[in-house]
Amino acid sequence: MDDIQLKRKQRRKRQRRRRMIFRLILVVIFLLILTLIYFKFIKSDDNNKVSKPVKNEVTWNTMLINKENTVPDSYKSVLVDVDFEDKKDDESYKKVDFRIYSSLKEMFEAAKEDGVNLRISSAYRSRFEQNKILAKKISAYEHDGFSHKKAEKEALKWVAKPGYSEHETGLAVDINRKGRTSSKVAYKWLSDNGYKYGFIKRYPNNKKDITGISNEPWHYRYVGSLISRICKQNDICLEELDDLLKEK
Ligand SMILES: [Zn+2]
Repeated sequence: MDDIQLKRKQRRKRQRRRRMIFRLILVVIFLLILTLIYFKFIKSDDNNKVSKPVKNEVTWNTMLINKENTVPDSYKSVLVDVDFEDKKDDESYKKVDFRIYSSLKEMFEAAKEDGVNLRISSAYRSRFEQNKILAKKISAYEHDGFSHKKAEKEALKWVAKPGYSEHETGLAVDINRKGRTSSKVAYKWLSDNGYKYGFIKRYPNNKKDITGISNEPWHYRYVGSLISRICKQNDICLEELDDLLKEK
């Protein structure tokens, strides 16, 4: 091999090495671009997914429970005793969800200051208890001579099906008169003032067609003071509010 041939060979070798280095650099740049794309788009998309509200997420205070909307299985109440009410020794305290306890107490104290004595006749009810109440009502109708089917139909006009009662959430209370206070005075006070403490009259007389429930001046549902003001000021029930929230 002469000198010229040797030089050519070395030159080709150098060129090949340069091409290889160039290819290597290209591969590294390509990998870098891929990594950047991953973090900028794919990863951030994951983050977006986390921050988006979960479908069917339940907002506890505006949760709608009625003949079409059952208490979600995922819903859990954390119950506390209504210990500001008197009870007999052999009785246990009524229970409500802890998130409504202080507002309920405040409302009872405010009523008392206005000379209105209130008591809670029903608060949280488990599905089992709801079932028992319904069965009792059905058998009462059967006792009056109704067939089982007819008795069930009549009972369901007054008692919610288990799973469809607001009482199962611990967010609803039935409030009645106590002592010298008359029912009329008690219901009027609640209707005029309940919203200040986050409670709404759930089944008003003028909303029977929408709620499907007759006037229940004793049944109050906690929705929080902002929502209760909106409902009171605009004269809308929870079904109407739910429609408004869906339109948003
Ligand atoms: Zn009730």
